[in-house]
Amino acid sequence: MTEAEMYKWAVYTFPVLFMMGYALMRTLRTKKNRKVLSDATKAGLTEPASLHPIIDKGMCIGCGACVNACPEGKILGLIKGKAELISPTHCIGHGACKRACPLDAITLVFGTEKRGVDIPLVNDNFETNVPGLFIAGELGGMGLIRNACEQGRQAMDGIAQYIGKHSSEYDVVIIGAGPSGFSATLAAHEKKMKYKTLEQDSLGGTVFKFPRGKLVMTAPVKLPIVGKVNFKETTKEILLKFWNEVEKKTAIKISYREKMDNITPSGNGFIVTTPKGEYKTRAVLLSIGRRGTPRKLNVPGEDQPKVVYSLIDPEQYRDQHVLVVGGGDAALEAATSIAEEDGTTVSISYRSEAFSRAKEKNRKKIDEAKKAGRLNVLMSSNVKDIQKDKVVLDQQGKKIELPNDGIIVCAGGILPTPFLKEIGIQVDTKHGTV
Ligand SMILES: Cc1cc2nc3c(=O)[nH]c(=O)nc-3n(C[C@H](O)[C@H](O)[C@H](O)COP(=O)(O)OP(=O)(O)OC[C@H]3O[C@@H](n4cnc5c(N)ncnc54)[C@H](O)[C@@H]3O)c2cc1C
Repeated sequence: MTEAEMYKWAVYTFPVLFMMGYALMRTLRTKKNRKVLSDATKAGLTEPASLHPIIDKGMCIGCGACVNACPEGKILGLIKGKAELISPTHCIGHGACKRACPLDAITLVFGTEKRGVDIPLVNDNFETNVPGLFIAGELGGMGLIRNACEQGRQAMDGIAQYIGKHSSEYDVVIIGAGPSGFSATLAAHEKKMKYKTLEQDSLGGTVFKFPRGKLVMTAPVKLPIVGKVNFKETTKEILLKFWNEVEKKTAIKISYREKMDNITPSGNGFIVTTPKGEYKTRAVLLSIGRRGTPRKLNVPGEDQPKVVYSLIDPEQYRDQHVLVVGGGDAALEAATSIAEEDGTTVSISYRSEAFSRAKEKNRKKIDEAKKAGRLNVLMSSNVKDIQKDKVVLDQQGKKIELPNDGIIVCAGGILPTPFLKEIGIQVDTKHGTV
């Protein structure tokens, strides 16, 4: 190459190729992100559960700092050089995108124009407008593990102040043993209060339900009795192991598999009702998160431990007969991931004729697994009876019996806010506001 040709290459050809390459990359990225967004839209997954970003498109320069900062991965994406929330329902409100934006083009809000998010009103002590009823953690609007732990501890300071001297059967009933309820229970134990902690499921709340090996991004936090805990980036398993050890060492008491059904005012306190009993208490701390209570099938045999309401680890079902119940994305993802395990027999039962609520990608996976003989699909069917080693279904009048070792019910959840309103707690409905 002559010197003149090299000059021409450096000054004209290389920049042109670079620009073309950049434009191609931008087009491909836009196409991919548009597909993610359109899949989410088709499946109706457009409404973030809690705190989430809105991006000022006029200010966004498409640098991608927010996209890269999100600890949850592909929640934001660039479309035509502007950031967009492409997987809205997977946003959990870390807020890292807002901090990363060099132009301050991101605002964190609750709710959207279409769907309001109900945030209960609490004072500085975490007490609601109903005297003696307190709220901590994600239910109050503030997500994330560290915030929930902090609020659980602080709410218990407010409760101790509120009750003054010990009086009723219990000083406080704490409902939920996620990060906020766990921290609150440690605080109640430390303060030598008469407390009862009720948990419908397992220690850890939403964290317990994270997929196996999920990377957990958190921040140092002060736990009562334990002191400062320095986790920043860890896994679900390490965090749960730590909490389990703390539970044992401190000898705090949590009543598992006991669901609060109702709270009624009584004298200068409340009666908390569960299927196992009634607890008279001066104060109640609701640390029940925002994810609700899984919807049950209400059929005989459902109380067996082999019936669960979310898939945590497909590998645990290897070589077993499994039934997944439901027709949304969670059910389809559970069924197809278990069907990949060697030696497993998997059936999916759904009461409707088609999986119309689920993403196209998941419907395709179901068809592939069915064609490959790895999945038995039972449309228009309902579970009737769950026995020790089999399950009985009805499919349009036909009785079906399947050998069974495990059932995963993915039938959605009953959200907590209607209950809050029922017991008189004032809530503020946010439609895309801070
Ligand atoms: C997929 C996903 C990933 C996430 N990743 C992270 C992360 O990396 N870092 C981070 O900081 N945060 C993360 N979060 C958010 C975090 O998990 C929550 O903010 C946090 O768990 C909230 O704690 P909580 O105690 O308020 O509620 P929860 O953890 O939801 O706990 C509520 C508890 O109350 C119980 N309960 C509810 N109703 C009743 C009842 N009627 N009776 C008895 N018990 C009841 C539930 O069974 C549950 O155990 C993530 C969330 C999700 C969904």
